[in-house]
Amino acid sequence: MTSTLETQPSPATAPLRGVRDVGVAIIGSGFAGLGMAVALERRGEDDFVVLERAHEVGGTWRDNTYPGAACDIPSHLYSFSFAPNPDWSSTFSPQSEILDYLKDCAERFGVMPHVRFETALESASWDDDDGLWRLETSDGPLTAEILVAAQGPLSEPSLPEVPGLDSFEGTAFHSAQWDHEHDLTGERVAVIGTGIAGLWTAWRLASEGREELFERDWVLNQWAKRLFDANGDGIISVAEAQPAALEFKQIADGDGDGRVTPYEYERAREFIIARY
Ligand SMILES: Cc1cc2nc3c(=O)[nH]c(=O)nc-3n(C[C@H](O)[C@H](O)[C@H](O)COP(=O)(O)OP(=O)(O)OC[C@H]3O[C@@H](n4cnc5c(N)ncnc54)[C@H](O)[C@@H]3O)c2cc1C
Repeated sequence: MTSTLETQPSPATAPLRGVRDVGVAIIGSGFAGLGMAVALERRGEDDFVVLERAHEVGGTWRDNTYPGAACDIPSHLYSFSFAPNPDWSSTFSPQSEILDYLKDCAERFGVMPHVRFETALESASWDDDDGLWRLETSDGPLTAEILVAAQGPLSEPSLPEVPGLDSFEGTAFHSAQWDHEHDLTGERVAVIGTGIAGLWTAWRLASEGREELFERDWVLNQWAKRLFDANGDGIISVAEAQPAALEFKQIADGDGDGRVTPYEYERAREFIIARY
């Protein structure tokens, strides 16, 4: 049976009729954009650009510098298959190491000359007559045969619609725009959300004895909720967070060597689900 998809040319397969500036335009230089760029390089393709609105590569790992920022997937898995890294310092490596790894890959695999920094894609439209993409960027127009959207699903900080947030008189900032100038010493801190940013931040702040964590959905961490929100009221208080963080460390680092292996992590997850 012939499907509609096979008979209708898609933008990627439609014949090129107009004159284009580049073969491939990749938007973003996080893991996805860099991975795509390296794949092209390794195939000997030279006719591509990476448009990056920021001043350096790294995406998520350039922007998220909150205390305790680290990956929650074991680093040996959270790496490019073509660039294994025997030097990860821990199972869940910190943000600065992941950023250095991405910068190193961009250099090592010859991507840097293709990156146009401080160039944001503003709009993109497919020109069916000329068979090419017409891009508007902060640096002027560009045409490309193929457009790769690697701008990241989480690259725009999302602020919750909390009534009164606009008039809140204390300091407030998003975890992706951490205010390192602001000293939190002696302050009460409320963290909203228990995605990975919320949990790592809370964990770090809880160990310093101050913070409450508010969560609406517990989508990502149903199993962590069982351990951390002991009384099930949707709020992790300091009283709950400190012993839970310690207990998790004891459960997860089974052999006490200071590292949590994927095997230990999985065992800990199963243990918590079974026990709490
Ligand atoms: C705090 C945090 C922790 C995370 N931890 C993990 C984890 O432990 N494990 C895991 O698997 N995933 C994790 N993720 C998900 C993570 O986003 C992905 O794993 C992955 O890094 C996304 O890569 P990406 O290249 O798709 O997007 P990004 O890393 O977001 O990169 C997108 C890039 O596109 C650029 N860009 C965006 N719009 C434009 C535009 N209009 N013009 C030009 N450039 C543009 C951005 O500046 C950015 O550099 C985490 C996400 C966050 C936010």
